[in-house]
Amino acid sequence: MLYDNHGREINYMRLAVTDRCNLRCHYCMPEEGINYVPRASLMTYEEMVRIVSVFSKEGISKIRITGGEPFLRKDMMSFLKEISILPDLKKIHITSNGTLLIDKIDDLRRMGITSINLSLDTLDRERFFKITRRDDFQKVMDCLDALLDAKFEVKINMVVLSQENTDDIIPMVELAKNKNIAVRFIEEMPFNGTEGKGNDAYWSHIQILEKIKSKYPSAQKLIDPKYSTSSNYKIDNFKGSFGIIAAYSRTFCGSCNRIRMTPQGLIKTCLYDNGVFNVRDLIRAGATDEQLTAALKSALGHRAKDGFEAEHKRFQFPVSESMATIGG
Ligand code: SAM
Ligand code: SF4
Repeated sequence: MLYDNHGREINYMRLAVTDRCNLRCHYCMPEEGINYVPRASLMTYEEMVRIVSVFSKEGISKIRITGGEPFLRKDMMSFLKEISILPDLKKIHITSNGTLLIDKIDDLRRMGITSINLSLDTLDRERFFKITRRDDFQKVMDCLDALLDAKFEVKINMVVLSQENTDDIIPMVELAKNKNIAVRFIEEMPFNGTEGKGNDAYWSHIQILEKIKSKYPSAQKLIDPKYSTSSNYKIDNFKGSFGIIAAYSRTFCGSCNRIRMTPQGLIKTCLYDNGVFNVRDLIRAGATDEQLTAALKSALGHRAKDGFEAEHKRFQFPVSESMATIGG
């Protein structure tokens, strides 16, 4: 098992397999002028399989595949197949925008992958276009229905954008009335690829809950699963549930069990840090499995207590990267 210097168990890695995306959600990426990672700098599949294999032997039992848009990367399904048979990896989850996924559902199920988080910030097609700068709303809705028909465990991630989609909060909660979905509302974070454009007017987890309670005052707090970043609720007679992720307020750091790997192999032990070591560079310099493990353990020995400390430590490099390079 892996532990950090604050006694927290680390058993979960988020793997951003690409920084490319077919959407351009404005809270995540600028419309143009994106500095994509050169292809030669991306981790190869072989390198990623090795890292997942080595780290899973040490205690990383759950992986989330994210990006950019994971299904935009060529041969993604072969990579998933390879990691799906690693003996120490218990769970593979995926976060996707749902535009390129519908024809892969059966194959994913055959690999034992049945948990998908779909990003969807509105139920209005025009608003979807404004937010993502692409007209793909119907594709995502069709994908959602197909995943539910195939009995996948589905969560929807909605980034709450002040003055833009707060009207969608109630309709989005109501998606869970007749469908077994967990709808999660995420506070907007300043990772939009444009330095200096923070989110001072962001909607906090408190405002989001107040809005939902104004319509559904009897929403009941659920007992959150261990390590959950969302604070979860149930409304009477609803099949699904809703949750709120205080990603900007950072209320959940005390039980954080996760690390992240960027498409170029940078390991982050906190979403808000600037990266602590690079596994790609170690692998390309000939590191053994033991050396990779030692580098991880050493980084976990210096882990920031919370996202505020991690952000403070990177003061000379203010948060400005795109979330597509971090994976959410
Ligand atoms: N492309 C996939 C998708 O959209 O689901 C996976 C990558 S995306 C970067 C992962 C998650 O990060 C999505 O749920 C997205 O909504 C969230 N995200 C991106 N930028 C964000 C921001 N500035 N604040 C909060 N969440 C953000
Ligand atoms: Fe692409 Fe996901 Fe970022 Fe939207 S949030 S631009 S879908 S990576």
